[in-house]
Amino acid sequence: MSDPGPPTDVRDCIIVGGGLAGLACARRLSSAGHSVLVLEAEEAPGGRARTVWHRGRPVDLGFQVLFRSYPQTRELLREIGLPRRDLRPVDGGAVFIGDDGTHRLAASKLGALRFGGLGPRDRALLVKLAASVVARPSEALLDPPAPRTTHELLRDLGFSADAVEGFFRPLFGVITLDRSLSADEGYFRFLMSMLARGPSVIPSDGLGMVAEWTSAAIRQTGGEVEFGARVTAVEMAGDGRRATGVRTQDGRVLGARHVVLAVEAPVARELLEPLDAEAAGRLPGEAASSVSAAFALRRPLYRGRSIVLNASPAEGDDRARIDLLCQTTNITRPGSPDGPHILLATRVTTGGGSAEGLVEAVGDLVRRWAPRFDWAGLAEPLGVHAHPFAQFRPLPGVRARLPGPRTAVDNLVLAGDLTHHPSIEGAVSSGVRAAEIVDALSP
Ligand SMILES: Cc1cc2nc3c(=O)[nH]c(=O)nc-3n(C[C@H](O)[C@H](O)[C@H](O)COP(=O)(O)OP(=O)(O)OC[C@H]3O[C@@H](n4cnc5c(N)ncnc54)[C@H](O)[C@@H]3O)c2cc1C
Repeated sequence: MSDPGPPTDVRDCIIVGGGLAGLACARRLSSAGHSVLVLEAEEAPGGRARTVWHRGRPVDLGFQVLFRSYPQTRELLREIGLPRRDLRPVDGGAVFIGDDGTHRLAASKLGALRFGGLGPRDRALLVKLAASVVARPSEALLDPPAPRTTHELLRDLGFSADAVEGFFRPLFGVITLDRSLSADEGYFRFLMSMLARGPSVIPSDGLGMVAEWTSAAIRQTGGEVEFGARVTAVEMAGDGRRATGVRTQDGRVLGARHVVLAVEAPVARELLEPLDAEAAGRLPGEAASSVSAAFALRRPLYRGRSIVLNASPAEGDDRARIDLLCQTTNITRPGSPDGPHILLATRVTTGGGSAEGLVEAVGDLVRRWAPRFDWAGLAEPLGVHAHPFAQFRPLPGVRARLPGPRTAVDNLVLAGDLTHHPSIEGAVSSGVRAAEIVDALSP
């Protein structure tokens, strides 16, 4: 292919990646009057937080929720005008099904006080732990001086082995996609604080609604969001010190005064390696992974806006278990009597496990939990999604080594959960931070 030559149209900023980090960055810059272009490789925005549709029902590509108290995410939702009524709370809480029966953790602030899955001593410890984090600023929680694993912290706080197995492992195993509870204690305290402060929610059109509305807000302020545009390299000036734009897979060279890389860790490493090997080497490498299966049910499996957690202890081949079920339409379409009712099932695969036998395993579990439900007659499998790099694993010390937003190239900025912490809030706040840097660097 002949060289396309130097770009003619130079934007203030090109943002590579239209996940929540890239979009949050672009929205902030665009609303401040900068010309921005988001280049997203897929045909829709949202990255890991994408939604597809099945007969008018949103189907998230993997079950996830956002905490309404995520500070920067809440701000973004306010700025893009996503109405609070569209943030549908999981107000039925979490139902734990274990060998000793079924226990509901109510979503209310006092839910822990009444949770029957813990003995009185563990309940008191849980309330104390929640009280110790609920009012502290997120950044203070995220940065403890001597990080332990979550498991070590729980042991040191005096929780019983039953509480760890029957409560923390099922719940935080699905939040961090890591049943070994090895996230650092700061990240765990941050998550505890978000849980204690308010409900988790799913937008009425699925999680992808956040990305769709943010893309629309970017366009409304004159920015551009292009899909199906895969970036293959960051273009550099002859002296190798400044980025001049990007090159796309279809052979275009697009010019920009600043470039923000907001892609997932494996792609970020590839694009950054030739420009700043040191920063590329500090990108998180250990992945938390999961696989999920979506089903359309002709009749609801259960009522109520809750998630269902498998609280049975590990037995035999733990790699075949199902960790979470959620009939998301109970939350996104509450009160709708008609199907299809969308059921998402998650298997955490960090440390082993695959998508093999996932659909059948969900059927087996439902037959065990709800023997009168005609699974074979009522459930239609919609698809299986593997998330080999769903989140990076915030093992103790990992977050302290992350590269941060600045690179050796002055006008090349990093964003993405990989520069902060592995969550929607980590992504959004990293995008906002990248925008502030670009704005400050701009003349
Ligand atoms: C199954 C699952 C469950 C989760 N559960 C939760 C949860 O309950 N709560 C929570 O807070 N977080 C959860 N997360 C994490 C959360 O979804 C992510 O942290 C967040 O969405 C990351 O956003 P991002 O913008 O940093 O990255 P991404 O969403 O990965 O965005 C990167 C984008 O870059 C694009 N891209 C890649 N390469 C290129 C290229 N060469 N050119 C152009 N574009 C490119 C990708 O297509 C993608 O759209 C979950 C994640 C998964 C997968």
